[in-house]
Amino acid sequence: MSKVFIFAGILLAGLCLCTFPAHLSAQNTLERISAVERSDGKGFVVRYHLSELTDSFKVAQPAADLIQMKLYGQDLDTLNFRFPPQTETFQNVEVAKTSNGIGVEIQLGIGHYFRTNVYPDQNRTHLLLALERISFTEMERIVEQSELIAWSTDTGAEDTLLAELDEDDSFLRLRESVNFQVIVLDAGHGGHDVGAIGHGGIYEKDIALDVTLKVGEYIEKYLPDVKVVYTRTDDSYVTRAERGLIATRAKADLFVSIHANSVGNAPTANGTETFFLGLARSQSALDVMKRENSSFDPESGYAPNLTEEELVIYELTNAGNMAISERVASMIEGQFKNRANRRSRGVKQAGLEVLRYAATPAVLIEVGFISNPTEARFLNSEYGQTIMASAIFRAIRDFKLEYDRSLRNNNGSRASNE
Ligand SMILES: [Zn+2]
Repeated sequence: MSKVFIFAGILLAGLCLCTFPAHLSAQNTLERISAVERSDGKGFVVRYHLSELTDSFKVAQPAADLIQMKLYGQDLDTLNFRFPPQTETFQNVEVAKTSNGIGVEIQLGIGHYFRTNVYPDQNRTHLLLALERISFTEMERIVEQSELIAWSTDTGAEDTLLAELDEDDSFLRLRESVNFQVIVLDAGHGGHDVGAIGHGGIYEKDIALDVTLKVGEYIEKYLPDVKVVYTRTDDSYVTRAERGLIATRAKADLFVSIHANSVGNAPTANGTETFFLGLARSQSALDVMKRENSSFDPESGYAPNLTEEELVIYELTNAGNMAISERVASMIEGQFKNRANRRSRGVKQAGLEVLRYAATPAVLIEVGFISNPTEARFLNSEYGQTIMASAIFRAIRDFKLEYDRSLRNNNGSRASNE
């Protein structure tokens, strides 16, 4: 089965140690690892096919041609592990059982230098290792800072450290429930961050709050088994990072951020659009991204736009959430168009920072253009806000029904993206 490594050396902590809550008594098996070229052409993604979540993991690159991965878990096994085919890049793979988990070593071909990063696949038990091509000089620097993981002298001294890290589950949602039961409603902007300033001097932050509170009222009244969590209920300022983290902490099933659009030089522009996080694929999506990411944040200054690299990684690790987000977005736009009789500009993807921190399906709604005098009047009226809020509510209600049904059909397990 597994070959025994004969490496000796000292294990130093702090290379890359991430953790999951320990759970599940079932045997966890590493079935295989597979590698695919990245869509951006900058390297590879190696997938570790695990049957359960690992307690923790660590990666090391002690030599230019060696990637070591340590997977922690008492029940981890490599029984029937299927070795990947040898390629020019991936020369050899070895697995070894250790006292508190397993070790996997990937031997790379000569001249194939990569920077590595590990990400848990959001909706699954797999781990992803992103490999990004780098120069030999950059490789040398990484090797200098990386310590060899010595499987043979690995005696579980890190157990205490693991126990401490187990308490930090901030980035992992625990799927204890089988129903849609928590929604986070996020009124965009607030406080000194007024958002866009529309026709007649109205503020985006006020429209966003009014519509958000109405959506929340409908949910509390008509879907009493759903808990509503607000990021703000008054004119206060909340950072974009904090908004998403509220959703992650609340173990929300959905994060909905509500905003209003504006465009300076085209007063006739009008209509709704709903975004989910991903690479912006149109100029208008890029414009919204720049505007929504650029409001001043006193803690971090002007937030930089997400890099393409960050978005590629997000897409890799959040495939399941993205599919759900896109579905919700299309239901919302469907309501705007067919029931609220608005002009729908459609469902779009963009690198919106506020959506990034929510480890949950997440959408951002632009309810209309406050730079357009007619639409500004509509959105600033009790009547217009009621129309928009009830459309958003109906989409959320329909989505909850669909979601709960699909969970029941899947025997209580969440739909996977494979
Ligand atoms: Zn906004």
